[in-house]
Amino acid sequence: MSELHKFLFDGLPVRGAIVRLTDSWQEILRRRASNTEHGAYPAEVRSLLGEITAAAALMQSNIKFDGALVLQIFGDGPVKLAVTEVQPDFSLRSTATVVGDVAPGMPLSQMVNATNQGRCAITLDPKTKFPGQQPYQGVVPLFDDAGLPLERMSEVLEHYMLQSEQLDTTLVLAADDKVAAGLLIQRLPLEGVGNLAGSMVSRENEDAIGLNEHYNRISILAKSLKAEELLQLDVDTVLRRLYWEEPVTRFEPLLGETAPRFACTCSRERVAKMIVNLGRDEAESILSERSDIEVGCEFCGVQYRFDPVDAAQLFTDAVQLQQGAAGTH
Ligand SMILES: [Zn+2]
Repeated sequence: MSELHKFLFDGLPVRGAIVRLTDSWQEILRRRASNTEHGAYPAEVRSLLGEITAAAALMQSNIKFDGALVLQIFGDGPVKLAVTEVQPDFSLRSTATVVGDVAPGMPLSQMVNATNQGRCAITLDPKTKFPGQQPYQGVVPLFDDAGLPLERMSEVLEHYMLQSEQLDTTLVLAADDKVAAGLLIQRLPLEGVGNLAGSMVSRENEDAIGLNEHYNRISILAKSLKAEELLQLDVDTVLRRLYWEEPVTRFEPLLGETAPRFACTCSRERVAKMIVNLGRDEAESILSERSDIEVGCEFCGVQYRFDPVDAAQLFTDAVQLQQGAAGTH
């Protein structure tokens, strides 16, 4: 079963979290593999998607925010998009769009940053918005400060946290066909709350970046963890091996009912709205070529079908809604 554990280093300005996605990650892969149009992900794409899924769960666990965290990689290589969305209750979904061939062993930069145009975006979409409120979004390129392409998702996200949040962050990420896992270590800012959504970061905090000896020691230990160990060892063993000399305090883990799990937020109503937004002409033009409008969800694989009668009904309802709305003004 999937699980997420958070912990603190007593008396030190450092916190951490470990996530292991098992059943939830296998469900994402199973649904993709059973999609007759796309088929299973190539191993390299599977690693990328698993790593961002684990990372997004870790980030969601580390912020005080009631809304969805969406982590997206907009690629300029064969991987056009890799996206994962984690809700505040840790239901999550992920998908990737691959166009063209991913050669075995293809490095990350060639998959998503072939011409240095790739981007990583993190969006926080609040559950309840005041009128006109836009979701918060931060974007970073997929190269480092010297312009060199980053070859690990962990480096991209560490770079993101430093650039957008001024937070020293260490990530170890790994994924295979059974497990997507991650370890996060973060230095707590001296003042204010380390928070993706516009933290109060003091001048002293900026000056302390990279300089806290406790954080640096704990980070180096984290980096000594190998991908195979992260994938294979249970959480207790990982923490004991890395931090047996450190004062670790653990919080109640998310297990069982509260564990991260796969769930899709798509619905027939949402797809219907999308078709209405396409417009009646577009819908009719699709229906002139085929017997129904078919929209598949990229995340869960559910196919929504609207035959000509359904489609006509959508537009009739939409017109009535508009007239109803107009009548109230
Ligand atoms: Zn869906």
